[in-house]
Amino acid sequence: MKGAHGNKNPYISVILPIYNEEKNLPILFENLIKELSILHHSYEIIAVDDGSRDRSVEQLRQIAAQHEEVQVIEFKTNFGQTAALSAGIERAVGEVIVSMDSDLENDPADIGRLIKKLDEGYDVVSGWRQSRWKGAFLTRRLPSMAANWLISRLTRVRLNDYGCTLKAYRADVIKDVKLYGEMHRFVPAYASWQGGKVAELPVSYKPRMHGKSNYGMSRTFRVLLDLIVLIFIHRY
Ligand code: UDP
Ligand code: MG
Repeated sequence: MKGAHGNKNPYISVILPIYNEEKNLPILFENLIKELSILHHSYEIIAVDDGSRDRSVEQLRQIAAQHEEVQVIEFKTNFGQTAALSAGIERAVGEVIVSMDSDLENDPADIGRLIKKLDEGYDVVSGWRQSRWKGAFLTRRLPSMAANWLISRLTRVRLNDYGCTLKAYRADVIKDVKLYGEMHRFVPAYASWQGGKVAELPVSYKPRMHGKSNYGMSRTFRVLLDLIVLIFIHRY
């Protein structure tokens, strides 16, 4: 793992987990930098390459060379999205941490709204992706609703979309949390158990255009397993 430190005192740290996103990175960074610059907050972007096998790393190095607010962390091999997010969070120095996917499914234009909501006095503001699974009610939407219902019941923290990576956190609620497996999605529940205030905010969603999703059904089992472990640790 290597990478250079760039920024002074950024207020916002954006963390991007990246695995084989060469087609998405140029547009993502263009949009992201544009949206962040109109917020009038200082910021840093921490791009974590999770052992990509395409040209993502070369692109990231090039982008970082042109933008001092961009830092790159490079994993030698693929450790998974949670590990990538975790490394980025550890490096981050901002007061507010924003996590988002790098495949253009999340829209950087929503970051300003998430932070505005956070400033109303929340510790975590979690995105709720709208218009997802259009025309796939039985096969995708219903299972997703059932999963979120189950997670909400078990954690006693009600969210409609635990799976959305686009979230904003106060740094102090997430800095000390160790993330394993698929656990990044449960940070809102964890924060709430610790007395933090959690909100959910509708965000836009676009299906992935380039590259392919790295997850299939096996993730459902890993997510459930991590949920059980987390609840076990919390209750006992
Ligand atoms: N990702 C990662 N490591 C992995 C798999 C995915 O860093 O091993 C990143 C990926 O580049 C994307 C985000 O995590 O930015 C979500 O991945 P993906 O789109 O494959 O998941 P889905 O949206 O289908 O749940
Ligand atoms: Mg995706």
